[in-house]
Amino acid sequence: MNKILIANRGEIASRVIRTCKKMGIQSVIIYAQDDRDLPYCNEADEKVSLGYGTLADTYLDQDKIIAIAREYQCEGIYPGYGFLSENSTFCKKVTEAGLEFIGPTSDIIDLMGDKKASKVKMEEIGIPLVPGYHGEDQSLELLKKEADKIGFPVLIKATAGGGGKGMRIVQAESEFSDSLDAAKREAKNAFGNDKVLIEKYLVNPRHIEVQLVSDGFGNHLHFFERECSIQRRYQKVVEESPAMHFSKELREQICETALKIARAINYKSAGTVEFILSEEGSFYFLEMNTRLQVEHPITEMVTGVDLVELQLSSSSGREFSLKQEDIKQIGHAIECRIYAEDPDHNFLPTSGRIQTVQLTKNSDYRFDCSLKDGNSISLTYDPMLAKVIVHAETREQAIEKMHKALEDTHFG
Ligand code: ADP
Repeated sequence: MNKILIANRGEIASRVIRTCKKMGIQSVIIYAQDDRDLPYCNEADEKVSLGYGTLADTYLDQDKIIAIAREYQCEGIYPGYGFLSENSTFCKKVTEAGLEFIGPTSDIIDLMGDKKASKVKMEEIGIPLVPGYHGEDQSLELLKKEADKIGFPVLIKATAGGGGKGMRIVQAESEFSDSLDAAKREAKNAFGNDKVLIEKYLVNPRHIEVQLVSDGFGNHLHFFERECSIQRRYQKVVEESPAMHFSKELREQICETALKIARAINYKSAGTVEFILSEEGSFYFLEMNTRLQVEHPITEMVTGVDLVELQLSSSSGREFSLKQEDIKQIGHAIECRIYAEDPDHNFLPTSGRIQTVQLTKNSDYRFDCSLKDGNSISLTYDPMLAKVIVHAETREQAIEKMHKALEDTHFG
């Protein structure tokens, strides 16, 4: 590919532009008119305004985006995360327009984007699942009976879920019916689909995920694990790689399980298999994200690879020359996400104008951000402002570096 359109905004758009420049690929970015002052708008080779309007009129307007890509003679569309990145209809439309969707195929997005369908597939290929129910019958009676069988506490999850939406912990049978109503309502609003599944609620679990990239020629590579156990509202906020106190055997097992999944579904492009690790040390499949993830930089820092470059290569139809044994996990990396949220009010997103963005003078850390003095933060978008990423030889040194980096980073 010689030219691509980046169907996203902010820090991820900036990050993809960096790799395009490195690879000599031309990039076109799109922006809602309200975003015109964000730095990423001036970093690509060409920029196209989507005008004013709601999300549906701008970053989610599939036909408009595809028409721009064609008009500007792009060969592919890079979806980033959020927005249209896991939208199989968009993927299909992009392909039908004769363009490359830089990601997996639409049938895989459909399969892995649905928590129920993906569990059925995982069961088929013998991947461990959290004890639970993910059947068709959605009647209160049956769901309650299944919850009883699993044993309280249980977790109700929306099958179309994501972002922690449509998820409810139920401590006792007496709360089940109300929690189910609440989960279904939230799921219907967020995803237009109120189907749920039930899982055993694991106490003090850890979130461990494995980064994969496949080239479409049957070469499936893993880039080790990330630990994302520090969360709020069931969503990650601090991530690190390698995971803490992780034995070599457990690492091999979990990475091999992720590869087994990639092989079984004939995966292509970058993806992440998420697992939940119980206090007893057993891991279970949670879901697979069929796109690049926010926390990908820590993997890049410990392995020294550029994951976006690999995605662009695989979408260009290039077979990887990289072999599994060439990929090493060196040192320790940590990422802290910086959000415009109010910790005193259950981390509710906040909005406003940033007077100044102050960064450290120390260049020894990675700062993924596309904001400058005077930019506004709107409630329309995800409240993440930036990511601070450090890498050091040991975990202790990485923590120390992170402290310094955070002390020097201010959004005023
Ligand atoms: P979403 O797709 O909405 O982000 P996930 O299924 O990925 O939802 O889960 C998000 C987080 O919720 C996990 O990282 C974990 O911290 C917590 N979680 C998920 N399933 C369970 C479970 N069965 N028991 C305890 N915590 C869970």
